[in-house]
Amino acid sequence: MNAVVIKTTGKRYTVKTENGDVVHCLLKGKFRIAGIKSTNPIVVGDKVEVVQESELWMIVRLHDRKNHILRKSVNLSKQTHIIAANIDQAILMITLDSPITTTGFIDRFLVAANAYGVKVVLIFNKVDLLNDELKAAQNNLLNIYEGIGYTCFVTSVINDDLSEIKDLMKGKINMISGHSGVGKSTLVNYLQPNLHIDTKEVSNTHKQGQHTTTFSELHDLDFGASIIDTPGIRGFGLVELEVAELGNYFPEFFKLKSACKYHNCIHKNEPQCAIKSALAEGKVAESRYKNYLNMLEEEQEHFRTNNY
Ligand code: GDP
Ligand code: ZN
Repeated sequence: MNAVVIKTTGKRYTVKTENGDVVHCLLKGKFRIAGIKSTNPIVVGDKVEVVQESELWMIVRLHDRKNHILRKSVNLSKQTHIIAANIDQAILMITLDSPITTTGFIDRFLVAANAYGVKVVLIFNKVDLLNDELKAAQNNLLNIYEGIGYTCFVTSVINDDLSEIKDLMKGKINMISGHSGVGKSTLVNYLQPNLHIDTKEVSNTHKQGQHTTTFSELHDLDFGASIIDTPGIRGFGLVELEVAELGNYFPEFFKLKSACKYHNCIHKNEPQCAIKSALAEGKVAESRYKNYLNMLEEEQEHFRTNNY
């Protein structure tokens, strides 16, 4: 029978079967996924096949993943820890006031999501707090991100009817992300009043032992959506990208790059660069280009210090 993994704790797996039953399972046999040296073979969001053998339920097969997100292990084994799989979309909540979400944060998030193959929808929340200046700034961001192809919503979750957001989430596994204080738990409480998910921010600096106590969990909401709760990564953790591929994760750069003179152009100091031309013509946003250069710089620094 097919099932979805909704919780894992050590060797025990809680799954929801296609009949809607929630059962606890063990793994039968070894599950190795080519190319991934992971500490955990089966994760929340995985689609699996389960069988009942006498009293015990067993996971006997892992179906192909659409995507997965991971975090590097704290120890030196170079193993990775997969946090969740088969995420249909990440909903990034953004506020321009209380707290301020910067484009640096947004663009980093979008790059990581793109690298993981996770679609992102942007929700600009707390519009009720915006003065004219911030409204103009928000409109500017809407132009930029809708122009690139991202779906954007503008709302005030404490005041507005959220049926559009419900429609957006229906039938999907959603990950709700964003800075602490942007309104994630307010949204979730509205969608499902008795559900308590942990929306606390966990710092990026890994604390020893943290991984053993936090587990992802999948929650079904009554209106037919699922939310994946992934402690420790309201963002996506760190994705390590090659310097040369970073630009591929900026969709508007990627579209133009075949027009750059050099096929390995990193859009920095090279002559006849299509991205720099588009920037000069105002077709690429300055904030996007600036954030790209900052990320490029960090990647280069990272490679230098790690002696690759
Ligand atoms: P989280 O850390 O992302 O889960 O943020 P919370 O949901 O805890 O929200 C932080 C604060 O912002 C709470 O006091 C909410 O009541 C408030 N808040 C959430 N949405 C809105 C909104 O649309 N407008 C205003 N003014 N406040 C909001
Ligand atoms: Zn270029």
